[in-house]
Amino acid sequence: MANLNERMVSLGTQRSVIRELFEFGKVRAAEIGAENVFDFSIGNPSVPSPEKVNETAVRLINETDPIILHGYTSAQGDLEVRKLIAESVNKRFGSHVGPDNFYVSIGAAAALCCCLNGLCNPTDEVIVFAPYFPEYKVFIEGAGAKMTLIPADTKSFQIDFEKFEAAINENTKALIVNSPNNPCGVVYSKETIQKLSSILKEKSKEYGHPIYIISDEPYREIVFDGIEVPYLPDYYDNTLICYSWSKSLSLPGERLGYVLVPDEVEEHDLVYAAVAGAGRSLGYVNAPGLFQRVCADCADLTADISIYETNRNLLYNGLKELGFDVVKPDGTFYIFPRTLEGDDIAFCERAKEFNLLIVPGTGFGCPGHARISYCVPTERIERSMKAFAKLAESYK
Ligand code: PLP
Repeated sequence: MANLNERMVSLGTQRSVIRELFEFGKVRAAEIGAENVFDFSIGNPSVPSPEKVNETAVRLINETDPIILHGYTSAQGDLEVRKLIAESVNKRFGSHVGPDNFYVSIGAAAALCCCLNGLCNPTDEVIVFAPYFPEYKVFIEGAGAKMTLIPADTKSFQIDFEKFEAAINENTKALIVNSPNNPCGVVYSKETIQKLSSILKEKSKEYGHPIYIISDEPYREIVFDGIEVPYLPDYYDNTLICYSWSKSLSLPGERLGYVLVPDEVEEHDLVYAAVAGAGRSLGYVNAPGLFQRVCADCADLTADISIYETNRNLLYNGLKELGFDVVKPDGTFYIFPRTLEGDDIAFCERAKEFNLLIVPGTGFGCPGHARISYCVPTERIERSMKAFAKLAESYK
């Protein structure tokens, strides 16, 4: 028997609920026609990138010396690219960051891994708030740290501060904030962020070391009704931002994002070095060169997110009418209603009988709920409402 790393074998063989739903959907589509299967399982953007993305890629390919275009860039990202990103961030948030505050990464996933590996030692704990993106556990444990999960405040999906405060201890190194949130779509209010920061300032002082916020922001641009997403460095100095163009520019396959380490982070130079060192140790080398340049040129743009807002309204209103208990998402392309029975896995199994493919909340640390991804054509949502009605009827 091969003497392999058991954790890796297990990660490589674990079944993915979402992938299984996707496979089920393909089988059902062959049986009853694709138009009768309502797949809401995957969070893959459904609107095209802005035209300028392809235009820029083509222009760069035609006009740039290929040795430069396809060559290695600096490990932290091409300098011109980082300058453009800094300009865009400063314009948007009134900040004063420069190119040396950015480490360009292979999407938010790698940005998170760089932060976690850069910050954490073996006894460290990282706090995560339910509901949460399940890969956090993989990334945190991969960095050798322990994940501490704070149960959800299911009334509003803001933070349960009592449980949060009780969970902080001398080993707490960081927490991950994901707002707008996958899977519930909620944005943390200014009041939530203020309270979070003041607790963290107090606790950092009490334990004599900084507790970092790692702000995972791939959905920052995808918000509705003009809602504002608080810019965390304005509230808390020890904030590292993980950003991605996967969702805002509909480019998940191109793998581009960054870590932003603002100057206000205590011992900024060391923290930045640790992030870059983690990238090196993980073998990331540099983020994809062509798309570093494309994303930097398109940093002020987003794909047409109005479609997600239309979809959110249709689903939210439709589910409410059917009697679902659901918190209105402020952004993203997910909605996370309470399931009509306590067992969310059984509920999602029953939903499959009506050809509705939705994901149980258990995997997001929030049983009794289910995630519906609405990054799909609007007409799929319109047609699916009858199936949701039948599902709700089956519980009467
Ligand atoms: N964080 C959250 C909350 C996500 O939903 C995702 C992807 O779905 C990621 C991080 C990873 O995104 P990326 O494609 O930028 O690695």
